[in-house]
Amino acid sequence: MTATPYATTVHVLGYPRIGAQRELKTALEAHWQGKLDETGLRAAGADLRQRHWAAQAAAGMDFVTVGDFAFYDHLHSCTALFGAAPARFGLGNEVDLPGYFAMARGTPTQPALAMKKWFDTNYHYLQPEIGPDTVFRLNRDWLLPEVREALSLGHKVKVALPGPLTYLWLARGTHGGFDKLRLLNLLLNSYWTLLGDLKALGVAWVQLDEPILALDLPAEWLAAFNLAYASLASNAPPILLATYFGSVAAHAPLLRALPVAGVHVDAVRAPEQLAAFVADWPQDKVLSVGLVDGRNLWRSDLSRILALLHPIKAALGARLWVSASCSLLHVPVDLEQETKLDPALKSWLAFAQQKLEELALLKSALNHGEQAVWRELHTSAIAVESRRKAPSTHIKTVRARVAALTAGDAERGAPYAARAAQQRAKLQLPLLPTTTIGSFPQTADIRAARSSFKKGALSEGDYTAAMHTAIREAVEKQEALGLDMLVHGEAERNDMVEYFGEQLSGYAFTEYGWVQSYGSRCVKPPVIYGDVARPKAMTVAWSRYAQSLTHKPMKGMLTGPVTMLFWSFVRDDLSREQVALQLACALRDEVSDLEAAGIAAIQIDEPAIREGLPLKAADWPAYLAWAVRAFRISASGVRTDTQIHTHMCYSEFNDILPSIAALDADVITIETSRSNMQLLEAFGDFSYPNDIGPGVYDIHSPRVPAVSEMTALLEKAIKVIPPERLWVNPDCGLKTRGWAETEDALGKMVQATRVLRERLTPS
Ligand code: GLN
Ligand code: ZN
Repeated sequence: MTATPYATTVHVLGYPRIGAQRELKTALEAHWQGKLDETGLRAAGADLRQRHWAAQAAAGMDFVTVGDFAFYDHLHSCTALFGAAPARFGLGNEVDLPGYFAMARGTPTQPALAMKKWFDTNYHYLQPEIGPDTVFRLNRDWLLPEVREALSLGHKVKVALPGPLTYLWLARGTHGGFDKLRLLNLLLNSYWTLLGDLKALGVAWVQLDEPILALDLPAEWLAAFNLAYASLASNAPPILLATYFGSVAAHAPLLRALPVAGVHVDAVRAPEQLAAFVADWPQDKVLSVGLVDGRNLWRSDLSRILALLHPIKAALGARLWVSASCSLLHVPVDLEQETKLDPALKSWLAFAQQKLEELALLKSALNHGEQAVWRELHTSAIAVESRRKAPSTHIKTVRARVAALTAGDAERGAPYAARAAQQRAKLQLPLLPTTTIGSFPQTADIRAARSSFKKGALSEGDYTAAMHTAIREAVEKQEALGLDMLVHGEAERNDMVEYFGEQLSGYAFTEYGWVQSYGSRCVKPPVIYGDVARPKAMTVAWSRYAQSLTHKPMKGMLTGPVTMLFWSFVRDDLSREQVALQLACALRDEVSDLEAAGIAAIQIDEPAIREGLPLKAADWPAYLAWAVRAFRISASGVRTDTQIHTHMCYSEFNDILPSIAALDADVITIETSRSNMQLLEAFGDFSYPNDIGPGVYDIHSPRVPAVSEMTALLEKAIKVIPPERLWVNPDCGLKTRGWAETEDALGKMVQATRVLRERLTPS
């Protein structure tokens, strides 16, 4: 191959801000505890930014990206930058750092801004609140010092910001029916001024992220893009409009016509959309193609990507830019820190730092020919090949089992009504049975025992004894409280996905694979790299022990296949549906083993089912079909008198109620107390057919509600759910709470139930 005259530009849309050692978390938490002053916190932020820019520059990115850093969340930083603090915080328009944190974390008198999931990721943004009284006022200090910082270090700078339409779309209108687009012109004024400043400073490019283009957008919002970008482009550095998380092919005509200097498209999530952009791409525009996965931690198949890129480069010349599909915010920072991973597995992975290196390699190969980097391409090809051929990624028995699943495997042996009658006869529960969601307070003793066992400092025997003590105490407390269906308390679990992942084949765990979830909170999702199978029972011994301590029914506790999938980094060489079915088969065996051990009720938690919903409604039915099937396969291997529960929380379920009903769990427990049972009304309107346990108190708050509050909620519930199908339970698991408040709250919950029972049972 000969070198081409047109140089290809490489860049990233954003870099993880937390730091390879979670330095930002440490600094933030120290600051909030009063142990690090604002100057110290700002210095920690500056240090991280400088390191991240240096990494981008050293790897050969053509720009460093500025503006992706935030002390809490980038959308919230935009709220500060544009002075859009809601009046309820009394901050005025000049937001300082304490004000920024007050909005993010709440104050003694004001709840924090709502936290929402960033599209279909596990990152949460702080939702701006806007209304007819909102005014915007540019607070340059929230951005320009960072830009100057980068420029003074000699970097070529691309500033990345949420675009004005995405900002408005994601905001919450504080007045019902308020048309958020009414604020567009005001907001554009501030953007316009800011972009002018950036131009004057010598910023090379501005990247405005408009991921809402991957959603189903109403026509008036689409139309607003023309107006917005025409006015912004008039006095700005060249604008790159960035889309990601899905196809924007439907908007290709719009994007081609916009007066922007470039468009970024996600070719990992939606490779097929390239066709709509490459041919006859406008001469005056750059097309940035995201081909390195910004959402997942797999090493790229560089030869495959280069094969895709060569014709695009031939068509576009220097107008081709190459990037990751989206900001690298969603992947961990540096694979080099992982010293305990299996070397083969490690060679299959790429974290943010390694993705920079992949982009640099692509650039060299495109600019100087593949022979210029043949050695690196060869190493990459070997890793990709070793993954493709690894026995762990193709276990014949697992594949065969999934292939052989029948329609009957997803069906219980009898319809709900018949099952309910058998279960009632077997379980002998009172009207309005009381139960909990699974976990009980994780005391210091419990955590200490788990961590010494993990470190090898506690023998298996001593560890089991410590867990038995915790289980015994939990059972005794539940008996004393008068609960009807008991749980063992999940003392042995540090996390509901990790606990199962550690016992399944095909799962791996990193040491430092942290990604930001919100603010200072990070999660370390496990990695599903191979075929999933269950070598042996995972929970049976604990449940059997717990059941041996009581005559009341003990509920087994499992994490469902869909949640296991969405809270992990999932392999990209097999469809999610197939991975979910493998997980479902493993869980199905666990459910059967629990039944055989005498456990009469088994809960399969699926809190993540809603978050798997695709961004476009047209893709919902296919997703819901496989998600429901996976759950049903996990739940349907048992007798009809074994009661299957499921649990879901903190999500808007209204739009997927038919699918929740289609899970056909005998009992569902759901979060409802925060919304004052609104969700329950939706279940009522929909005529949800099976048993329901609406949460009667919010476990996320230390406040213990009065008996009368819970009776009032139960009375509401009885209006929409017949009492024969109603359960009483808290909103969610209790592991983050203390025992004192837990016993107090559950005692009151039992009392409230008794009040209702008396009222319902004619004497
Ligand atoms: N069984 C889990 C618990 O009680 C459920 C957690 C959840 O809903 N996220 O902790
Ligand atoms: Zn929950």
